[in-house]
Amino acid sequence: MAKTKTTFFCQNCGSQFAKWQGQCTSCKEWNTIVEEVIQKADKASWQTEVSETTKRAPKPQKISEISGAEEMRLSTNNNELNRVLGGGLVPGSLTLLGGEPGIGKSTLMLQVALQLPYKTLYVSGEESAQQIKMRAERIHPNSENCYILTETKTQNIFRNISQMEPDIVVIDSIQTLHTDYIESSAGSISQIRETTAELIKFAKETATPVILIGHITKDGNIAGPKILEHMVDTVLQFEGDRNHMYRILRAHKNRFGSTNELGIYEMHAGGLREVINPSEVLISKNDEGLSGTAISATLEGMRPLMIEIQALVSTAVYGTPQRSATGYNAKRLNMLLAVLEKRAGFKLGAKDVFLNITGGITVDDPAIDLAVVAAVLSSNVDIPIARGMCFAAEIGLAGEVRPVPRIEQRILEAEKLGFTAMIISKHCKLPKEKYGIDLIKVTKVHDVVSYLFG
Ligand SMILES: [Zn+2]
Repeated sequence: MAKTKTTFFCQNCGSQFAKWQGQCTSCKEWNTIVEEVIQKADKASWQTEVSETTKRAPKPQKISEISGAEEMRLSTNNNELNRVLGGGLVPGSLTLLGGEPGIGKSTLMLQVALQLPYKTLYVSGEESAQQIKMRAERIHPNSENCYILTETKTQNIFRNISQMEPDIVVIDSIQTLHTDYIESSAGSISQIRETTAELIKFAKETATPVILIGHITKDGNIAGPKILEHMVDTVLQFEGDRNHMYRILRAHKNRFGSTNELGIYEMHAGGLREVINPSEVLISKNDEGLSGTAISATLEGMRPLMIEIQALVSTAVYGTPQRSATGYNAKRLNMLLAVLEKRAGFKLGAKDVFLNITGGITVDDPAIDLAVVAAVLSSNVDIPIARGMCFAAEIGLAGEVRPVPRIEQRILEAEKLGFTAMIISKHCKLPKEKYGIDLIKVTKVHDVVSYLFG
């Protein structure tokens, strides 16, 4: 047997070191470096005990003979997931689904596995077969194609795979797997790296798509080495607030498609429901006008989304005014408040300002700025914004109202949902003269104030 080899890994970011040190020089975390055995008796291979599955392995082809037709995709029977993947699973691809514990990754993947029209092997190291069965009963009771295997050792998993030859493999989760060729415990950096490498080899050689579930650390990184993200073809992130019912699925990396797509789900007792028309569910159906709410026409990825913003402005009773934002960048909120103070003459310096984006989602699109300002002002003067009004514009430091990309797409979405007017920047380039809703074009924040509140 070869000499035992060890090396030092940061358990936070996966960086490798020749010797132990107190602080990781890569991610600056303290006491995260651990020695791990990387001894390999032989080169780790998923094939040590199976050999038949290589029959589907690709052979060299002349480039002129490769068909230029679009890549084959396996549809997952889940429109939101297909959309985010760019049309479906690519044969031989490795997809990592990351998300915080308890957010519903297993539920999503089990649901997908149960609905797949292909022979699917769902490998779980997290739950017993009985627990999975109980959940499956709630989600989709009669699945003929889904096989459950509770196993954490990759060699055993591959032995089962070679017997049943599944079309798709789901691993829940990568942190529970271990291989015989590495001695450190499951979930350690070297185990994650090696088991992933084995799975990649298996996926590529048999053209079987593999989906890995991976947990995410508190600071939002996928637990395990950062290289895990580099190793796989696609990284999907499942986000949301555990206390809200909406979940967002987005691609952080996609070798086979764009990362602009986004899927929205609603969490129910019976699993996750695809939200076909997200705008309708994200806007509260309140008939009486309430002050402090404004609707923004945002784009999440390529998808237009009408989002409701709520603001509460009140006199700060206890000294330093508080500013807090949920689902929106707090620094950006402070900037907008400073612009309002300086450019529109609103004295908000002594006021508490709370901002909330409904539905528990987070928005980065700067087009939301104008609606944030409108919500804050509406709450400040306690006058509701006219019903049917929505906003889409960025605000600059000089108080100018700036145009945002794909304005027409936003207008059409607002129109579709029955909005009657939209405030946009005067500098927006519109392909058409007229739209089904009134477009109010402004250049400065001040114009918006006088338009809304006289
Ligand atoms: Zn580190």
